[in-house]
Amino acid sequence: MRLILFGAPGVGKGTQAKILSSKLNIPHISTGDILRQAVKDQTPLGKKAKEVMNRGELVSDEIMIGIIKDTLQGEHCKNGFILDGFPRTLEQAKAFDKLMKDLNIKDFLLISLSADEEELVNRLTNRRQCQVCHNIFNLDEIKYSSKCPNCRSENNFIQREDDKEEVIRNRLKVYKENTKPVLDYYEKQDKVIYVNGLGTIEEINSRILFTLHSK
Ligand code: AMP
Repeated sequence: MRLILFGAPGVGKGTQAKILSSKLNIPHISTGDILRQAVKDQTPLGKKAKEVMNRGELVSDEIMIGIIKDTLQGEHCKNGFILDGFPRTLEQAKAFDKLMKDLNIKDFLLISLSADEEELVNRLTNRRQCQVCHNIFNLDEIKYSSKCPNCRSENNFIQREDDKEEVIRNRLKVYKENTKPVLDYYEKQDKVIYVNGLGTIEEINSRILFTLHSK
């Protein structure tokens, strides 16, 4: 199965992609994670991407298309994949379509997760990441404690630069202007499945699986 998880920042694409990846046994390809790892490793890509990401803007289409081409042609993506964070512009969508055509793949679907904008701002500003295990938690989940529920390390929570409110507002603006047109583009190709992104993680996941199976 080949899926694209689509939606505004904070809608839960990453969380759902991880669950689907394990349930459907196909790799989760997150372009955000690939870039964050490159920033951490201080690779040439990471050095280029860091400032752009910190401002909540988009890394160039050329770089992103290159990353996706290399990744999707890898052996581990042969039987399917879940894309999270790509395509984010019309140009990326067109390059993706061309790649699928070149690889003789016709069967992919886009799952569009929707949620209210203020709810998204709330969710994102409440996110904290453990610097040791890199898991992300909501402030309500960790109950303002300083201990990581996953790796038990203490005082290692940080707010990611791109989760600060000003940056989030910019990410939402970039999403509306550059990324939303991708939805109309795939809508015209009858490739979109719409799923309500409000509810518990399990509820949303059941909705996705139900809609996928009935497609
Ligand atoms: P994400 O974790 O998917 O929200 O991505 C974090 C940041 O990485 C974004 O705000 C962008 O700066 C950058 N990024 C991730 N995927 C893409 C993409 N497909 N095109 C351009 N920039 C991207």
